[in-house]
Amino acid sequence: VSRFEAITMAPPDPILGVSEAFKADNHELKLNLGVGAYRTEELQPYVLDVVKKADKLLLEKGENREYLPIEGLAAFNKVTAELLFGADNPVIKQQRVATVQGLSGTGSLRLAAALIERYFSGAKVLISSPTWGNHKNIFNDARVPWSEYRYYDPKTVGLDFEGMIADIKAAPEGSFILLHGCAHNPTGIDPTPEQWETIADVIQEKNHIPFFDIAYQGFASGSLDADASSVRMFVARGMEVIAAQSYSKNLGLYAERIGAINVVCSSSDAAARVKSQLKRIARPMYSNPPVHGARIVASIVGDATLFKEWNAEMEMMAGRIMNVRQKLFDSLSSKDKSGKDWSFVLKQIGMFSFTGLNKAQCDNMTNKWHVYMTKDGRISLAGLSLAKCEYLADAIIDSYH
Ligand code: PLP
Repeated sequence: VSRFEAITMAPPDPILGVSEAFKADNHELKLNLGVGAYRTEELQPYVLDVVKKADKLLLEKGENREYLPIEGLAAFNKVTAELLFGADNPVIKQQRVATVQGLSGTGSLRLAAALIERYFSGAKVLISSPTWGNHKNIFNDARVPWSEYRYYDPKTVGLDFEGMIADIKAAPEGSFILLHGCAHNPTGIDPTPEQWETIADVIQEKNHIPFFDIAYQGFASGSLDADASSVRMFVARGMEVIAAQSYSKNLGLYAERIGAINVVCSSSDAAARVKSQLKRIARPMYSNPPVHGARIVASIVGDATLFKEWNAEMEMMAGRIMNVRQKLFDSLSSKDKSGKDWSFVLKQIGMFSFTGLNKAQCDNMTNKWHVYMTKDGRISLAGLSLAKCEYLADAIIDSYH
């Protein structure tokens, strides 16, 4: 008998488990809209040309494989903060940002969660309802208490702004408010610039700390600057802000695990102390982060020509998703005779569409139509092609009615 007998089987991950089920299906029309990863019109994974170029340059340079410092590659940490806050943001010049390279978005969020657990004992994190499935895992794992604020209104298939504001107001003073910087996952619904201002007002009034998760910078609108405007507005108000970044989507570096955690502090002294503690948290978990993705990001952002090429490719990827979104809307509107208003598909932004399909309807999508998706009704448009829109529309209409 095994010494591990008491260990029971863990449930499959609600997002990554979808890909496993997809692989096991042999139907020719099967479609994987579960994981948020960009695919070409041929539904193949895509390596950015600019990443291939950076790879080639790095190989020619023949860089060594020495350990990075605990906080990661200095050149990466510099450019990642500049990309997020803007290169001439005073908080950078004043050295008020503690930036530590993390294991992509997830690992960066996890470092911040550990910091909260250690230094803000009892403080709560408020997360949107719904949110990316892994947020709850991350805070549970770090033993940080969390609760939800209202975000999505099924009646309008839009933002429940009043509910959101009321719940942030009602949270105990000094809570952490987790916000999606742009392209909210899973709903694809972002606050307007005016709504962002009101959110910042309430957070300031209540002495809360805004905690941004920005995993889609450049992917929502096609512009890195436009997609960072929410974060920059909070920083411009003089607020202290936490922000976790990821290069999985915008540079297609999913498996390189490259991202960063930034803590904007009110003094350079506080930033230095925060950074020292983030390093202390990282050391016993993984010692130091991987180098390759960090070098790719640093060399692309640090080179004017490559940076321009990256922006063009990001626009191309964001544009393909917008085209698919339009085609899906057209297909749904022309095929569905029930009079249902499908315009929410067009209003949502980013990689996903939140269809409003309930769990039983999602099961129908998968069991009858071989369309794989998360059970919250989210579909990744990045995994859809123009050619498959009509098929998907048939599946959605059949599942709704
Ligand atoms: N945050 C959000 C909202 C996401 O959607 C994702 C990826 O799907 C991540 C963070 C982190 O992804 P990664 O760990 O690959 O950077």
